[in-house]
Amino acid sequence: MKGTRTPGMGKCGVVLSFLLIVFGQAGCQPAGLWGSSELAAGAGKAAWAGEAAPAAGSAREGAPSSQDGALSVKLATAKAQPETQPETQQHPRPKTAPKPSPAEAEKPTGSAGKAEKSKVVALTFDDGPDGKYTPQVLDILKKYNVKATFFVVGKQVEKYPDVTLRIVREGHDIGNHSWSHQDLTKLTGQALDDEIDRTQEAVAQAAGGYTPDLVRAPYGAISDSLLDYLHDRKFHHVYWSVDPRDWAGTPVAAMRENIRKHVRPGSVILLHSFGGRKHAIEHTVELLPQIIEDLRKAGYEFATVDEMIDAEEANASVIK
Ligand SMILES: [Zn+2]
Repeated sequence: MKGTRTPGMGKCGVVLSFLLIVFGQAGCQPAGLWGSSELAAGAGKAAWAGEAAPAAGSAREGAPSSQDGALSVKLATAKAQPETQPETQQHPRPKTAPKPSPAEAEKPTGSAGKAEKSKVVALTFDDGPDGKYTPQVLDILKKYNVKATFFVVGKQVEKYPDVTLRIVREGHDIGNHSWSHQDLTKLTGQALDDEIDRTQEAVAQAAGGYTPDLVRAPYGAISDSLLDYLHDRKFHHVYWSVDPRDWAGTPVAAMRENIRKHVRPGSVILLHSFGGRKHAIEHTVELLPQIIEDLRKAGYEFATVDEMIDAEEANASVIK
């Protein structure tokens, strides 16, 4: 079942309910070695460079506003959903039904009068989960009642199933970010299948049958054949349109200004909840409350990527 949790888990559901209670609050395990070794090997190199590597110097990073300009997100389909018993619900859908501001409602729609253009953005967090930063990100999102999208690495899911479960339990989307953060355009056949399938299985096992229907290729490295492969398997590939380069340890003030400057209705903002250069994600954690407050003051609502897709007006250049 794409994009759904498996209802009626029986005994497994009971166990999961127990796990929800036991592990739901936080996972305070040490950060995994995966990121540390990646950090040691890749610090300062464009070769790692989080998801920013392919965007650096490209039109994408330089002109996020032009991409976002075409995107309008219809919220009329947003459905309220109770917070209780998430393991029996469908794939995370809008828990709130944000309304377009009067000013926005007056603006022309981007898609033939289908709906008002809404000031909605999606926060996305890549490369987790981990036991240190991802729980801090989740704490902040919970405090502000913001739903986000986590593109998880299968190896990390295997190490931190409790944090994975918490992500789902608290109403966020999970997308597949490969098993071992490889450049998927260089893989074919079984190797490619494994990167996707093992992650799908790890997420389902950790999070009550949750089956991601989103993929973000590591480094944003995509090709026509990879897109065809993902589409054949009914995945959406999710790029981004605002990149404050948090993986690089960019100063908080600079990231805040980057987002303020580039955000548009429909933006997909790239952040990380793990990995990057030393202490980089500490900046992300410091930045997050500030940008949530900034964006709300500017009239923005927060949506998950699946909510954007459900609105049927996701920007084709970002969400394919
Ligand atoms: Zn990544």
